[in-house]
Amino acid sequence: MLSEGMQAALNRQLNAEMYSGYLYLSMSAYCESIDMPGFASWMRVQRLEELTHAMKFFDYVAENGRVLLEAIGAPPTEWEGVLGAFEATLEHERKVTGLISDLVAMAGEEDDAQTGEFLRWFVEEQEEEEETAGEIVERIKQAGDSEEEIERLDGELARRS
Ligand code: MG
Repeated sequence: MLSEGMQAALNRQLNAEMYSGYLYLSMSAYCESIDMPGFASWMRVQRLEELTHAMKFFDYVAENGRVLLEAIGAPPTEWEGVLGAFEATLEHERKVTGLISDLVAMAGEEDDAQTGEFLRWFVEEQEEEEETAGEIVERIKQAGDSEEEIERLDGELARRS
């Protein structure tokens, strides 16, 4: 059984993952609106990934306590081009990494080895998320003002499934 505090914290993380999905869906709509279908498609895939994160928390909490859902915050709707959107993605993933670290610390304080074990996957996942977002930010920066390069990158990102 989860402690009351741990249950609340994991439910908040479930909400944060749902918010992440909503954020990337909003970015997908934005990328679509500026005619960047590949970036938009990448964001749609990212949104699905966030939903799987949310469901991992859902299943874990449901098995060991009680899931309590709360309202999902409204995401922003505008960014400064694809660079702005991907810089915001990187910043958001860094924030999520911090949230996961806080949960790991809490599991340690509570001697909750089971939850600590459950969170290990997310620690690794966050490393990947930051790395991927960071790489794309760099690629966009390298493309600079070259429309051709941005279009090439758009085509590349479209292939993510
Ligand atoms: Mg996530």
